[in-house]
Amino acid sequence: MEFEFSEQQIEFKNLIHAFAKARIAPFAPLWDETEQFPLETVLELGEMGAFGIIFPESYGGLNLDFTTLCIAIEELARFDSSIAITLSAAVGLGATPIYLFGTDEQKQKYLPDMCAGRSLGAFGLTEPDAGSDASALKTSATFDPSSNTWSLNGSKAFITNSGTSITTVTTVAARVKDGFSAFLVPRGTPGLTVGQAYRKMGWHASDTHPLYLDDVKIGPEGVLGEMGHGLSHFLSVLDNGRIAIAALAVGLAQGCLDEATSYAKSRIAFGGPIGRNQAIAFALSDMAANVEAARLLTYKAAWKKDNGQNYTQAAAIAKLMATQYAVDATRTATQIFGGMGFIEGTTVVRHYRDAKILEIGEGSSEIQRIVIARSLGLPVP
Ligand SMILES: Cc1cc2nc3c(=O)[nH]c(=O)nc-3n(C[C@H](O)[C@H](O)[C@H](O)COP(=O)(O)OP(=O)(O)OC[C@H]3O[C@@H](n4cnc5c(N)ncnc54)[C@H](O)[C@@H]3O)c2cc1C
Repeated sequence: MEFEFSEQQIEFKNLIHAFAKARIAPFAPLWDETEQFPLETVLELGEMGAFGIIFPESYGGLNLDFTTLCIAIEELARFDSSIAITLSAAVGLGATPIYLFGTDEQKQKYLPDMCAGRSLGAFGLTEPDAGSDASALKTSATFDPSSNTWSLNGSKAFITNSGTSITTVTTVAARVKDGFSAFLVPRGTPGLTVGQAYRKMGWHASDTHPLYLDDVKIGPEGVLGEMGHGLSHFLSVLDNGRIAIAALAVGLAQGCLDEATSYAKSRIAFGGPIGRNQAIAFALSDMAANVEAARLLTYKAAWKKDNGQNYTQAAAIAKLMATQYAVDATRTATQIFGGMGFIEGTTVVRHYRDAKILEIGEGSSEIQRIVIARSLGLPVP
C-alpha cells in the first residue's frame, strides 16, 4: 500500500497551490461579489496545462492520471470553489464525453483547444423536470431523412460553463426513437438560446445557464457515441465527476480548516486565544480528522480509477462522505469566526455558501446512497 503522491504529482500540486495562492485567493472575493467569471485566470490555468491533465499528448494534454486532476481541483477549491468547478466541469463534463465517445474528427475538432483551456465544453443532461431521474428527460431529437439532420427541441437547466465567451460546444442528451442519444451542439447554432445566468447561493464566479433548443439542426457529424446509448454514456461520465466533486469538497474543507485554525490562534477572548478552549480546539481536531478521512476516500476512488478497477461504489462513498464533511466544516468554521462568520468578505462565509451544492450536483447524496445500496445487492430501484 502506498500513501504518498508521486514526485510528479507533488510537483503539480505545488504548482497549482502557488498559482491559487497568488492568482486566485486575492481576487476570489471580488469575483464572488460581482458574480464575474474570471476569464483571464481560466486562460492562465489553461496555459499551465490544467485542462489537459488527463488527456493524451496528441491532443495537447499532459497525459497524467486522474489522481493528478483531483489534486489540482483540491488545491484550487482550497481557495475558490468557483474556479475549481470550472476546471472540474470543463474536463469531466465538457471534454471527457468527447474523448470517450467521439469520433476521430470530433476529437480533433474540439479536444486540442479544450486541453489548452482556450475553449470550454458543457454537458446538458438536467432539465427542469428531469434531474436525479435523468431518464425522464423530454428534449427530443427527430431525424429528417430528406436533409440527413436531427432536429432538437427542449430545454436544459443549470448547465455549467454553457455561456462563457470561450464555450464552444454543449453535449446535449435527447430522447430518440430507441432510447437516448448525445448530440454535440456548437455555440451559436441557430435555435440554441443560452438563457440568463442563474443567481446562485454560491459558486458565484462559475458560469451556469439554462439552455433552450428550438428546432436546432444537427448533422451526422454532431452525433456523439452510439445512437440510443446516450444515457449510459452520460451516466458513466458521472462516476468520474463524483470523484472530482469529492476532491473539490476536500479542498473546500481544508480551506475552512486553514482559515479557522489560524483565526482560533489569533482571536483573543477572556484573555487568551479562543483556540485554547477545548470546545474550539476539539471542533478543529474533528474537522482535521474528517478532512483526512475524506481525502483518503477520494484518493482511493481516484486510485481505483487510475488502476482500471471498478470504482462506482468507491466514487459514490467518496462523494457522499466528502461533501457531507465539507458542509459540516463550513458550519464549524463560521461558528469559530463568531460575528465575522456572518459578514461577507470573510473567506469562510464564501465557503459556507459554496458548499451546499456539493451535496446536490452530479448526483445528490440520496442518489449516492442509492448507488451504494445497489452495490450491496439491495433491490433499490
Ligand atoms: C450550480 C449547478 C450546476 C449544475 N451543473 C450541471 C451541469 O453542468 N449539467 C447538468 O446536466 N446538470 C447540472 N446541474 C444539475 C444537477 O446535477 C441537478 O440539480 C441534480 O442532479 C439534482 O437534480 P434536481 O435538481 O432535478 O433535483 P431532483 O431530482 O428533483 O431531486 C430533489 C430532491 O429529491 C431527492 N430525490 C430524488 N430522487 C430520489 C430518490 N429516488 N430517492 C431519494 N431521494 C430522491 C434528491 O436527492 C433531492 O434531494 C447543476 C446544478 C446546479 C445547481
